[in-house]
Amino acid sequence: MSDCLFCKIAAKNIPSKVIYEDEMLIAIEDINPSAPVHVLLIPKKHIASLNDIGDTDKSLLGHIQVIAAQIAKEQKIAKDGYRLVNNCGTMGGQEVMHLHYHLLGGREMLWPPG
Ligand code: 5GP
Ligand code: ZN
Repeated sequence: MSDCLFCKIAAKNIPSKVIYEDEMLIAIEDINPSAPVHVLLIPKKHIASLNDIGDTDKSLLGHIQVIAAQIAKEQKIAKDGYRLVNNCGTMGGQEVMHLHYHLLGGREMLWPPG
Protein backbone atom coordinates (compact mmCIF):
# COMPACT_ATOMS: atom_id res chain seq x y z
CA MET A 1 0.00 0.00 0.00
CA SER A 2 1.63 3.21 -1.19
CA ASP A 3 0.82 5.47 1.76
CA CYS A 4 1.51 2.92 4.52
CA LEU A 5 4.52 3.57 6.79
CA PHE A 6 5.36 -0.10 7.38
CA CYS A 7 4.94 -0.99 3.68
CA LYS A 8 7.49 1.76 2.97
CA ILE A 9 9.84 0.43 5.67
CA ALA A 10 9.46 -3.15 4.36
CA ALA A 11 10.27 -1.91 0.84
CA LYS A 12 13.29 0.04 2.22
CA ASN A 13 11.83 3.32 1.01
CA ILE A 14 12.13 4.53 4.60
CA PRO A 15 15.31 3.54 6.48
CA SER A 16 15.20 1.40 9.62
CA LYS A 17 17.55 -0.76 11.69
CA VAL A 18 16.87 -4.22 10.28
CA ILE A 19 17.36 -7.12 12.72
CA TYR A 20 16.10 -9.90 10.45
CA GLU A 21 14.53 -10.24 7.01
CA ASP A 22 13.14 -13.01 4.81
CA GLU A 23 10.58 -13.28 2.01
CA MET A 24 7.62 -13.03 4.41
CA LEU A 25 8.63 -10.48 7.04
CA ILE A 26 11.04 -7.84 8.22
CA ALA A 27 12.05 -7.29 11.85
CA ILE A 28 13.31 -3.83 12.84
CA GLU A 29 14.23 -1.89 15.95
CA ASP A 30 11.37 0.27 17.21
CA ILE A 31 12.16 3.98 16.71
CA ASN A 32 10.88 4.78 20.22
CA PRO A 33 11.77 1.70 22.31
CA SER A 34 9.63 0.80 25.33
CA ALA A 35 12.21 -1.69 26.64
CA PRO A 36 15.95 -2.37 26.22
CA VAL A 37 14.98 -4.78 23.43
CA HIS A 38 12.03 -3.60 21.32
CA VAL A 39 11.78 -5.26 17.93
CA LEU A 40 8.85 -4.92 15.51
CA LEU A 41 7.99 -7.97 13.38
CA ILE A 42 6.26 -6.73 10.25
CA PRO A 43 4.81 -8.92 7.47
CA LYS A 44 5.80 -7.69 4.00
CA LYS A 45 2.21 -8.21 2.84
CA HIS A 46 -0.07 -5.30 3.77
CA ILE A 47 -2.64 -6.50 6.32
CA ALA A 48 -4.19 -3.64 8.28
CA SER A 49 -4.70 -5.49 11.57
CA LEU A 50 -5.54 -8.84 13.13
CA ASN A 51 -9.15 -8.03 12.23
CA ASP A 52 -8.16 -8.48 8.59
CA ILE A 53 -6.45 -11.88 8.64
CA GLY A 54 -7.90 -14.95 7.03
CA ASP A 55 -7.26 -18.68 6.62
CA THR A 56 -4.54 -18.04 4.02
CA ASP A 57 -2.51 -16.09 6.61
CA LYS A 58 -2.08 -19.02 9.03
CA SER A 59 1.42 -19.91 7.84
CA LEU A 60 2.50 -16.25 8.02
CA LEU A 61 1.22 -15.89 11.59
CA GLY A 62 2.95 -19.10 12.65
CA HIS A 63 6.15 -17.95 10.94
CA ILE A 64 6.07 -14.65 12.85
CA GLN A 65 6.06 -16.53 16.18
CA VAL A 66 8.85 -18.89 15.13
CA ILE A 67 11.03 -15.93 14.06
CA ALA A 68 10.11 -13.94 17.20
CA ALA A 69 11.40 -16.83 19.34
CA GLN A 70 14.56 -17.01 17.21
CA ILE A 71 15.20 -13.26 17.55
CA ALA A 72 14.57 -13.47 21.32
CA LYS A 73 17.38 -16.03 21.55
CA GLU A 74 19.68 -13.93 19.37
CA GLN A 75 18.93 -10.82 21.46
CA LYS A 76 19.70 -12.82 24.64
CA ILE A 77 16.29 -12.22 26.24
CA ALA A 78 14.91 -15.77 25.84
CA LYS A 79 16.22 -17.16 29.13
CA ASP A 80 14.88 -14.34 31.32
CA GLY A 81 11.65 -14.05 29.33
CA TYR A 82 10.00 -11.51 27.12
CA ARG A 83 6.66 -10.39 25.76
CA LEU A 84 5.25 -10.69 22.22
CA VAL A 85 2.40 -8.21 21.72
CA ASN A 86 -0.08 -7.31 19.01
CA ASN A 87 -2.10 -4.13 19.44
CA CYS A 88 -5.34 -4.36 17.45
CA GLY A 89 -7.50 -1.34 16.69
CA THR A 90 -8.10 1.87 18.60
CA MET A 91 -8.90 0.35 21.99
CA GLY A 92 -5.96 -2.03 21.62
CA GLY A 93 -3.58 0.90 21.16
CA GLN A 94 -2.71 0.28 17.49
CA GLU A 95 -1.21 3.41 15.90
CA VAL A 96 0.19 2.04 12.64
CA MET A 97 -2.49 0.28 10.61
CA HIS A 98 -0.24 -2.43 9.18
CA LEU A 99 -0.16 -5.67 11.20
CA HIS A 100 2.91 -5.96 13.41
CA TYR A 101 4.06 -7.63 16.62
CA HIS A 102 6.17 -6.06 19.34
CA LEU A 103 8.95 -8.22 20.84
CA LEU A 104 9.81 -6.62 24.18
CA GLY A 105 12.46 -7.72 26.64
CA GLY A 106 15.40 -6.77 28.81
CA ARG A 107 13.27 -5.58 31.72
CA GLU A 108 10.49 -7.00 33.85
CA MET A 109 7.08 -6.60 32.23
CA LEU A 110 4.03 -5.45 34.17
CA TRP A 111 0.70 -7.24 34.25
CA PRO A 112 -1.98 -6.27 33.51
CA PRO A 113 -0.68 -3.98 30.75
CA GLY A 114 -1.87 -0.38 30.78
P1 5GP B 1 1.41 0.29 17.49
O1 5GP B 1 1.05 1.37 18.48
O2 5GP B 1 0.78 0.55 16.15
O3 5GP B 1 1.17 -1.09 18.00
O4 5GP B 1 2.98 0.37 17.31
C1 5GP B 1 3.62 1.17 16.38
C2 5GP B 1 5.08 1.20 16.74
O5 5GP B 1 5.80 1.67 15.63
C3 5GP B 1 5.41 2.12 17.91
O6 5GP B 1 6.07 1.40 18.95
C4 5GP B 1 6.32 3.19 17.30
O7 5GP B 1 7.36 3.61 18.15
C5 5GP B 1 6.86 2.48 16.07
N1 5GP B 1 7.18 3.36 14.96
C6 5GP B 1 6.43 4.37 14.47
N2 5GP B 1 7.02 4.95 13.42
C7 5GP B 1 8.20 4.27 13.24
C8 5GP B 1 9.26 4.40 12.28
O8 5GP B 1 9.26 5.25 11.39
N3 5GP B 1 10.31 3.53 12.40
C9 5GP B 1 10.35 2.56 13.38
N4 5GP B 1 11.42 1.78 13.40
N5 5GP B 1 9.36 2.42 14.28
C10 5GP B 1 8.30 3.26 14.21
ZN1 ZN C 1 1.23 -1.58 4.87
